[in-house]
Amino acid sequence: MSQKIIVVGANHAGTAALNTILDSGKDVEVTAFDANSNISFLGCGTALWIGGQISGPEGLFYSSREILEKKGARVHMDTKVSSIDFERKTVQAKCVSGDYYEQSYDKLILATGSLPVSLPVRGMDLHNVQYVKLYQNAEDVIKKLKNQHLKKVTIVGAGYIGVELAEAFCRCGREVTLIDSASTCLSSYYDEPFSRRMEENLEHHGIRLVFRETVQELEGQETVQKVVTDKGSYDTDMVIFCAGFRPNTRLGNGILETFENGAYLVSRRQETSIPDVYAAGDCAAVYNNASQRTDYIALASNAVRSGMIAAQNALGRDISSPGVQGSNGISIWNLKMVSTGLSLKKAIRLGYEAASVDYEDYQKAGFLETDNSKVLIHIVYDKSSRRVLGAQLCSEYDISMAVHMFSLAIQEQVSIDTLKLLDLFFLPHFNQPYNYITMAAFRAE
Ligand SMILES: Cc1cc2nc3c(=O)[nH]c(=O)nc-3n(C[C@H](O)[C@H](O)[C@H](O)COP(=O)(O)OP(=O)(O)OC[C@H]3O[C@@H](n4cnc5c(N)ncnc54)[C@H](O)[C@@H]3O)c2cc1C
Repeated sequence: MSQKIIVVGANHAGTAALNTILDSGKDVEVTAFDANSNISFLGCGTALWIGGQISGPEGLFYSSREILEKKGARVHMDTKVSSIDFERKTVQAKCVSGDYYEQSYDKLILATGSLPVSLPVRGMDLHNVQYVKLYQNAEDVIKKLKNQHLKKVTIVGAGYIGVELAEAFCRCGREVTLIDSASTCLSSYYDEPFSRRMEENLEHHGIRLVFRETVQELEGQETVQKVVTDKGSYDTDMVIFCAGFRPNTRLGNGILETFENGAYLVSRRQETSIPDVYAAGDCAAVYNNASQRTDYIALASNAVRSGMIAAQNALGRDISSPGVQGSNGISIWNLKMVSTGLSLKKAIRLGYEAASVDYEDYQKAGFLETDNSKVLIHIVYDKSSRRVLGAQLCSEYDISMAVHMFSLAIQEQVSIDTLKLLDLFFLPHFNQPYNYITMAAFRAE
């Protein structure tokens, strides 16, 4: 008899798991349930769509029920799993049409993702108070933007999604205010000089930045009109909440072990605390090689890899995650930033005896007058072990590939001294004989 695998949630982690199972050639009966009507929506395209940098959302999906069913899966869309009996190994689900399912499994993969953090402030139910997690959320915002009287948009949360949306609303002619209780933007991933450069970029394009202020209340009659913070109040026609994500783990029902924020605790094989039950993507915790501890990092890149690992292990192969570094990037009006691992302030907060080195130079040899830009590099390392803990780069030039090397260096616990004489090629079309990675590493004490 073929093995029965159920996947709950079929977005990035779930789709990766399903494709891995379906492409394996193994005799498996695989069923997926998803509460939504679409799958594989790339949220990263929301800002590009709102800002008019892409013509429509069609390209933002890379899979569908039809594609997965053609490969042999049974896919129930609009069908929410309401409970799981981990002892009897059954899943109970209900479709919006009213159909009810009770299905048994040999292996279960939970890929139920995350939900936007909602702040406990009054007025959240006013019209034009929005989240931007789902395709439907983005569609709703785009529809509302057809109203030209909607002029002022306030974004709460200056992480990478808030900053991307600030650019997007500005590109479509709105007056944008970006509010955060932190003292800088992108504070989870970047240290001050980088955050400041992004802030200058945003202000240069007319975005009002309001930092060190905490939103306390939304005011308005039916539709939101004001955002009230502990220090001021701001007129607005729409508010977008980008205050982070929390793992969606209600189905674990206090039975599966969880991390401090409620994410499922998983082994490197994506196994939960119950045999034959795996978890992947935003609903699960990750092992962070930079901090060398369990962490929560909600990214599509982690979701896809962990979905593949969960599926391989559910199929009976033995595959372990090498852990993650939280590598990320952002590009706002041509200012590109990439980072991996720990920022200096986070490393110090975690108790490392951390230091950083900075170096700034042009990407290419000076005699190349076109398509050349300055690059700022910042490497964080531990003074006692010399281990590379993090790296950040920023430029108008596309420096994104450099961060992958630092990601590997952190994963493999490479010393900053190893980077000093690392063989880095030189060709004037690409870079300089004195590479900024070498030069920065040489600055380490
Ligand atoms: C605006 C925006 C921009 C982003 N940009 C980037 C980026 O540039 N790079 C990056 O790496 N990441 C980005 N992310 C993060 C990325 O989208 C998430 O990390 C990713 O979606 C996680 O995938 P997932 O499959 O684990 O979870 P989710 O995408 O949250 O999907 C979970 C799925 O489970 C289903 N589900 C939940 N509960 C049930 C249930 N009880 N029964 C049935 N189905 C259920 C849901 O309907 C959903 O389809 C962005 C996110 C947003 C919102």
